[in-house]
Amino acid sequence: MSTSPASEPVIRVRGLVKRYAEHEAVRGIDLEVGRGEIFAFLGPNGAGKTTTVEVLEGFRQASGGTVEVLGRDPWQAPGVWRARLGIVLQESGAEPGLTTRECVALYAGYYPAPRNIDETLALVGLSAQAGERASGLSGGQRRRLDVALALIGDPELIFLDEPTTGFDPAARRAAWEVVDGLRALGKTIFLTTHYMEEAERLADRIAVIAAGRIVAEGTPQTLGGRQLEASQIAFRLPGAVALDQFPERLRERLQHGEDGLLRLPSATVTADLHELSGWALALAVELEALEVSRPTLEDVYLQLTGSEE
Ligand code: ATP
Repeated sequence: MSTSPASEPVIRVRGLVKRYAEHEAVRGIDLEVGRGEIFAFLGPNGAGKTTTVEVLEGFRQASGGTVEVLGRDPWQAPGVWRARLGIVLQESGAEPGLTTRECVALYAGYYPAPRNIDETLALVGLSAQAGERASGLSGGQRRRLDVALALIGDPELIFLDEPTTGFDPAARRAAWEVVDGLRALGKTIFLTTHYMEEAERLADRIAVIAAGRIVAEGTPQTLGGRQLEASQIAFRLPGAVALDQFPERLRERLQHGEDGLLRLPSATVTADLHELSGWALALAVELEALEVSRPTLEDVYLQLTGSEE
């Protein structure tokens, strides 16, 4: 399912092709990202994400198609255009000999209209580490410093390349709060990630690329027709209850799991649950481990990419 951004596009890509010698890494993709959107770009290793991002950032020349970022062709765009982008690479740009604050101050000097240094440190949650040497920061703190360095020029558009890879769960949540802060400032964010939970938590829209082609695009709730897929009701019956006592309409759909759970795919959850629980109450049977679940974003992603990731 294809969707368009609700606001004016900041990134507009039509038919982008990128070849490395004989190898076509990106095979004619279309993308639009609106102002203020958080857009997640997902795909298995080698799918073409980094190549696409590098074209958008102006680091690589497209082999075909048209690319417009903040109204310019990135490959031809001047330095003033670059100052409107914030780029957080997978590798740290921090200067290890300097303190956290000095690193940010150094980068502030590169931009025509930088943000306030202390406000930026606060935004990424590094105020307490302002006087510490960058080399002494933990991995998660160093990543936040990278975000501060990308933000200090007050960019309109921020590229976050796998911003939480290697983070522990608490650091990941803290990083998501930093992204919430950027959203509140109205920044446009182009995010790549391998974590479905991250895409689901942060993204307004998602595009999935596989083998150089966009295979799906949508909101986290609608990607790949996720909202149309059947839910599943799972439960366990006490051993004494024979299945021939089970309501006939539901019995035909019942699947027996190796884990001892019974599963009922359901497009009408409210009605099915009503019937199921009505039956159980009438017989005074407890439906153990009762759970209703929807296909996760990861289920949908794996289906779309056919990936063994
Ligand atoms: P990952 O999730 O592993 O970062 P990716 O989706 O970012 O993967 P790309 O790095 O864009 O994938 O690579 C896409 C394809 O292009 C791969 O087959 C890769 O081997 C190839 N490729 C990438 N960079 C180059 C290069 N400089 N020269 C030749 N081939 C390249």
